[in-house]
Amino acid sequence: MGLRQRNWARRETIRLKALLGNACAHCGITSNLQFDIIESMGDAHHRCEWSWRISFYRAQLVMKNLQLLCETCNKRKADHDDPF
Ligand SMILES: [Zn+2]
Repeated sequence: MGLRQRNWARRETIRLKALLGNACAHCGITSNLQFDIIESMGDAHHRCEWSWRISFYRAQLVMKNLQLLCETCNKRKADHDDPF
């Protein structure tokens, strides 16, 4: 992936996290945040490249199916999402 695409991915990640309030939906912590799909859609997106995943996360956000969880809360959930 090119540098420009990587910068875009980073910007989009920051933007999406800001839209989600930059805090864990569960405990309110603001560090080690990871995207979490509320109603799991399977793990197919884990195998995809960032640009595809960000589009996926953005679509989930629109459908109100995306939240932020801190590492601790995310580990408690069965389905994991990688940190960016
Ligand atoms: Zn938490």
